[in-house]
Amino acid sequence: MAKKRFIAGAICPSCSQQDTLRWWQENDVEQVECVSCGHSDVRAPQSVEQSDQLSTETKQQVIGIFKPED
Ligand SMILES: [Zn+2]
Repeated sequence: MAKKRFIAGAICPSCSQQDTLRWWQENDVEQVECVSCGHSDVRAPQSVEQSDQLSTETKQQVIGIFKPED
């Protein structure tokens, strides 16, 4: 049995409700489901996407440090 976890702060792209999305892994694929409208998707949780954005911003900051403007 896959454990289904709610994604804190996530907003459903279909019904725009907050904290209704939950995700779980099934056969190494991450499934996302909205308990409000029944919307379902197959993708990484929003928390992972946010982590990627943070790492990208960090890289840009590092580049700025190593390439200062004259
Ligand atoms: Zn929904």
